[in-house]
Amino acid sequence: MRAADMHCDTIYEIYEGYKRGESVSLRNNSLHLDLEKMKKGDYGIQNFAVYVNLKKTENPFLEAMEMIDIFYQEMKANEDLIHVVKSYEDIEKNWREEKMSAMLTLEEGGVCLGNTRLLRDFYRLGVRMMTLTWNYPNELACPNRIVTEGPDKGCYPDTEHGLTQKGMEFLEEMEDLGMIIDISHLNDAGIWDVFAHTRKPFVASHSNARALASHPRNLTDEMIRALGERGGVAGINYCPAFLHDWADGETKKSMIAHMTGHMKHMKQVGGIGCIGLGSDFDGIVGELELAHGGKLPMLEAEMKRQGFLPSEIEAIFYGNVMRVYRDVLS
Ligand SMILES: [Zn+2]
Repeated sequence: MRAADMHCDTIYEIYEGYKRGESVSLRNNSLHLDLEKMKKGDYGIQNFAVYVNLKKTENPFLEAMEMIDIFYQEMKANEDLIHVVKSYEDIEKNWREEKMSAMLTLEEGGVCLGNTRLLRDFYRLGVRMMTLTWNYPNELACPNRIVTEGPDKGCYPDTEHGLTQKGMEFLEEMEDLGMIIDISHLNDAGIWDVFAHTRKPFVASHSNARALASHPRNLTDEMIRALGERGGVAGINYCPAFLHDWADGETKKSMIAHMTGHMKHMKQVGGIGCIGLGSDFDGIVGELELAHGGKLPMLEAEMKRQGFLPSEIEAIFYGNVMRVYRDVLS
């Protein structure tokens, strides 16, 4: 089954490799994803995130620009297999020509330094989706969790700090440009601001259901319902911590049955149309039953076994995500 995956951190891993003086290729490597594994897994389109950790860089804009260069170098070196897409028509063209598609995305709105001119420059460079935050506050918004120390030590959803004025400006600009807003990593208050201040569908590229795994990175049932009503999609994340609530001492292992469990829940709450794939490959740690991209057909097999209809499997594997791309990318 052809697949559309909305999020991976493979370009970041390749970038880290370059910084260590190792040459890691997108075509064939020991990461979760490479082009050969993608081909084996029947990938139609993969989003490649430029991920920047604000606490590890002095210059997030520069780091993003370097990673975008790596992305394009890899695209050039592998143009027999994969092409960059900037529009829905580009994706259809690649499918007709039996090429895989790559969409460039940003994971950390802070790389724009709060400047909409830089946002437009990133769009010109091919960026078609952006998370407003990663796990730290930036000029636009606040991240999903409040981490507390001391006796109440824990990790709680942030329901208070909504988008900044700059964040609102960015929403408007992204909708005008045709860049898909990604609410993964954003906090609860910010997510509701996005619902209130946008008109088009948007995505949570790699987030699961909080009802099944209580991490604040996941979406509440209210959010899943609202996302479904908006025509948006949430991509199933394969990370053990976002799939299940683990007891202390339990070995965290991402199981395919966890993923289908989240799919069933989301279908019940937001309808079949709001579910997609957002593996988070090369951005997650822990043991994974679906160990790499080449094993994606295992997910299809489990969905069949669990009673998903062929039309539902198709919708989750790529149909729903394609609908959002058709609706938003200009
Ligand atoms: Zn992420």
